[in-house]
Amino acid sequence: MSAYAAPLKDMRFVLNELAGLGEVAKLPGYEDATPDTVDAILEEAGKFASEVLDPLNYSGDQEGSVWKDGAVTTPKGFKQAYRQYVEGGWGALPFGPEWGGQGLPKLVATAVEEMLTASNMSFSLCPLLTQGAIHALELCGTEALKKAFLGKMIAGAWTGTMNLTEPQAGSDLALVRTRAERNGDHYLISGQKIFITYGEHDLAENIVHLVLARTPDAPEGVKGISLFIVPKFLLKADGTPGARNGAKCASIEHKLGIHASPTAVMVFEKAEGYLVGEENKGLAYMFIMMNSARFSVGLEGVAIAERAFQRALAYAKERLQGRDLVEGGKTVPIIRHPDVRRMLMLMKSQTEAMRALAYSVAAAMDFSVKSSSSEERKKHQAFIDLMIPVVKGWSTETGIEVASLGVQVHGGMGFIEETGAAQHLRDARITTIYEGTTGIQAMDLVGRKIAREGGLTAKAWIAEVKKLDAELSRSSNLQSIRKNLSDGVQAVSDCVEFIVAEKNPNAAFAGAVPFLRLMGIVAGGWQMARAALVSGKHLSTKESIDKSFFEAKIATARFYADHVLVQAPGLRNTVVNGAAGVMALSEEQFT
Ligand SMILES: Cc1cc2nc3c(=O)[nH]c(=O)nc-3n(C[C@H](O)[C@H](O)[C@H](O)COP(=O)(O)OP(=O)(O)OC[C@H]3O[C@@H](n4cnc5c(N)ncnc54)[C@H](O)[C@@H]3O)c2cc1C
Repeated sequence: MSAYAAPLKDMRFVLNELAGLGEVAKLPGYEDATPDTVDAILEEAGKFASEVLDPLNYSGDQEGSVWKDGAVTTPKGFKQAYRQYVEGGWGALPFGPEWGGQGLPKLVATAVEEMLTASNMSFSLCPLLTQGAIHALELCGTEALKKAFLGKMIAGAWTGTMNLTEPQAGSDLALVRTRAERNGDHYLISGQKIFITYGEHDLAENIVHLVLARTPDAPEGVKGISLFIVPKFLLKADGTPGARNGAKCASIEHKLGIHASPTAVMVFEKAEGYLVGEENKGLAYMFIMMNSARFSVGLEGVAIAERAFQRALAYAKERLQGRDLVEGGKTVPIIRHPDVRRMLMLMKSQTEAMRALAYSVAAAMDFSVKSSSSEERKKHQAFIDLMIPVVKGWSTETGIEVASLGVQVHGGMGFIEETGAAQHLRDARITTIYEGTTGIQAMDLVGRKIAREGGLTAKAWIAEVKKLDAELSRSSNLQSIRKNLSDGVQAVSDCVEFIVAEKNPNAAFAGAVPFLRLMGIVAGGWQMARAALVSGKHLSTKESIDKSFFEAKIATARFYADHVLVQAPGLRNTVVNGAAGVMALSEEQFT
């Protein structure tokens, strides 16, 4: 079975040449992110991912987490790996030094996160949710709550969860029923939550649940939801874990994938909870956590795609079948066949495009917090808001497509568990569902991010993409990229006009998912075009150190334009003309 190797070369290229690590490192507080430090971090994280997490991925999937009498045991090796994760300080990378964080840019932490996820997605979910919880607490918690919980969570000694979903409240959180009754200086939380990732486990000494609940006199709907911290163990006066709180794990789910990640049914019986921020503003706070988690789930799409690609590539170089179409002769490795190459290029080019987009959004996160000018901060935040549903929706849908191609490259062996290709497809399948399904992301993109502001940010981004045209026009070998990018951005522009003008929400939302795909494909094409231009510059200067890498980058960008970006005009037609077909049948006619 092929081992995971962090794609350090591409990561460095994207960090430095596309996402602008150099500029990020100039922001106040990020001075430590020097090229040498970042290189050392990437090397070490790569080692941790391939030597510690990757070897547990397949066994963790086979063994799964196990529930017994309210306790959950993670698969063999997970505890030890988690200890190493804590000792390595990996969870502390992007957080402020005041609570023990390392104060590094989100951009750098994103590359590390990709490695942890690619090597073992089930393991990485525990840190993912912890980071989302830390983020919400950092921004909305009182000083006392921060003091009690943040240091331990940033260090990784305690983990975090996100308790939103209830049996009757999934995409529609207005239906949350869990109750919170005031009891002196705290609240008593009662109710049931389902599908809670790492709601119970044996990796850490305490679990800090962030729980959505309603106070008795709260208004109906989303305006009556509050956010609470409910620790598994209540804290003693000295701040260490003491008595068991009334938050218990009733069972864990049997799932299609991510078997090692326990997905818990949580029962809260008058559990002691502490209000985060103000009553009835819980959903707004939860959105902070969700944005961070949505970005991370988008990154899961990138990571799984990378892992599936590496596995398929290794197999394609080994598996002997058929003869070379031109040379004939002996049986050759399947990588020689054009169709296998087509599949590998689809995997490689889309993975690189997704990585470049995700890292650019991560850089924008750094600028949105640390830029000295408030205008700059606002501009970057608007770009993030526009792109979060795209990173989440497009990268996860494409991650599944890439993982499925990985199975196809393996032929029959892809369908057999021993090769590991099937696990990637099974694991990837959840990514388009949790943290808001693709449909919900697409509605967010069309409704809140475009229609509500008359397409302002989208139009600014379109103008930015169009600026590349002049530069592309000067390179004779980039003309197919130029043409497909120009058609693609025109397609986005037409759709934005359509969305802004459309008064019937059914018509606008009928094409929301195709529009999200279009946005993703074009945003990926934008990044690949930038990558091709930068690579061209390197190749034309003597300092160019890795000719093969830059030539491959241009060829990959060109492939992306001819095979992926080229789909944009068709998607435009679906968005603009397809609504009638979506809504045509009556419910009875769906037979
Ligand atoms: C493995 C796993 C881990 C999870 N981890 C967590 C966790 O840690 N914390 C947590 O709180 N939750 C978690 N979830 C829950 C997850 O976030 C929800 O499953 C998800 O939000 C979808 O909700 P639902 O399952 O109720 O589906 P539903 O909301 O019932 O959706 C069913 C279908 O209807 C569509 N749909 C629903 N409403 C609309 C609408 N208004 N417009 C258009 N289409 C719509 C959806 O897109 C979907 O295709 C997890 C789930 C799983 C399976």
